[in-house]
Amino acid sequence: MTPPTESEKIGVFGGTFDPIHNGHLAIAEFVRLKLSLDKVIFVVASDQWLRKHPPEALSADRFKMVELAIKSRPYFLASDVDIVRQGHTYTIDTLRDLRVQLGDSVALKLIIGADAANLFHKWKYAEKIHSYATVVVVGRPTMKIKTPLLGGDLNTDIEVKYLEGPMVDVSATMIRNLNKSEKQIEEFTPEAVSDYIKSKQLYRK
Ligand code: ATP
Repeated sequence: MTPPTESEKIGVFGGTFDPIHNGHLAIAEFVRLKLSLDKVIFVVASDQWLRKHPPEALSADRFKMVELAIKSRPYFLASDVDIVRQGHTYTIDTLRDLRVQLGDSVALKLIIGADAANLFHKWKYAEKIHSYATVVVVGRPTMKIKTPLLGGDLNTDIEVKYLEGPMVDVSATMIRNLNKSEKQIEEFTPEAVSDYIKSKQLYRK
């Protein structure tokens, strides 16, 4: 990654990206424009411990698909900090590692979708996230955002912005299932990603 200039505003968007899809791209672009972010970093998780199933594609393939999806947009970057660290991905570690790479002068905005936000109280060291980033919660179709993110006394220091967002009704699960039943996925993910899925025979069984 190119080193940031002082006082840049940077979105941090973590996910399994198994695979990345148009919903991810739409919310990253929406938040970038809405909050005048200089960049959005897509951080590919090694393994998100709150998910019921491990990712289906290898981290190298998921990372490659993110790179392909964002290729034409210089303000979108891909980070492998979570893959390099390995093991369960905890966002507190992601933010700490990004701070080391980017320095203290940048403002980090952690972007999370409504489903992830509703599990926020279960995150490891959730109450410490605010020392690294402010949180931006973006709506997702059919999911109500519960507020506040942390109940009781714990939410006092957490700065959270709630945005409705573009409400794109797509999920990685849906794409994996469509591909398994040999249905079209091109409508839901960039062409370079659907081509990659086909060429590497991902999500087949
Ligand atoms: P899966 O279906 O495998 O659970 P997913 O589509 O939810 O995957 P993730 O990589 O798990 O994708 O999501 C990364 C982040 O993007 C999470 O914060 C999630 O809430 C958010 N997100 C994913 N899809 C959307 C969408 N369509 N609208 C808003 N937020 C989304």
